[in-house]
Amino acid sequence: MPEPLLLIATTNRGKFREFCDLLQDLPLRLRSLAGVPASPVVAEDGVTYTDNAVHKASTIARWSGCAALADDSGLEVDALGGGPGVQSARYAGVAQDDRANVAKLLAALEGVPAAARTARFRCVLAVAIPNGNTWTVEGVCEGRIAEAPRGSGGFGYDPVFLYPQFGQTFAEIPAAVKNRISHRARACTGLRENLLAFLAVHVDACRACRFV
Ligand code: IMP
Repeated sequence: MPEPLLLIATTNRGKFREFCDLLQDLPLRLRSLAGVPASPVVAEDGVTYTDNAVHKASTIARWSGCAALADDSGLEVDALGGGPGVQSARYAGVAQDDRANVAKLLAALEGVPAAARTARFRCVLAVAIPNGNTWTVEGVCEGRIAEAPRGSGGFGYDPVFLYPQFGQTFAEIPAAVKNRISHRARACTGLRENLLAFLAVHVDACRACRFV
């Protein structure tokens, strides 16, 4: 019996590599959508991370005939009422420009003292099978927004996300360390607990997978 196949609903090679690292010890075959012709493009226009992750995972599972994993994440800043939240990627416009997003965030927080700059990254992961059955887990990483960008690693808001326990931003922390403490890593911890059992229960629903 071959190991179960789990399609990671992303074409982003960096994100796929991160999931491969996080799930490497599980007896699974992981595939991404990179280089898969005509896979559906799913709009991330839901009201919550869960809406977006479930919509993406279930669309790809139905289309592919395989179990699929999708994620949605964002940054929540208390002084901005929890924003930019689900709009994080498009905070400064539709271009998903990391630099512009960070600049807009720092401008919005000008004059806000360090103690009031509390924030968190949140990640929701959804696993779906072709009949629409879906399961979600969430991970959160608490921090603070720095006064100015620091560090050259990571992506998105990493240069201004201070991880207080280390006194460093996510862009200053080595990737391998970030991948142990991040919102995505914490969500993966919850995922790992039940993923194999979920796939085993639904193995018959994935027999028509177009990738096998
Ligand atoms: P998505 O879940 O890949 O769509 O990410 C949504 C947006 O949240 C990204 O474009 C980033 O701006 C932000 N984001 C999510 N995770 C991280 C992270 O680990 N570091 C920095 N920014 C992140």
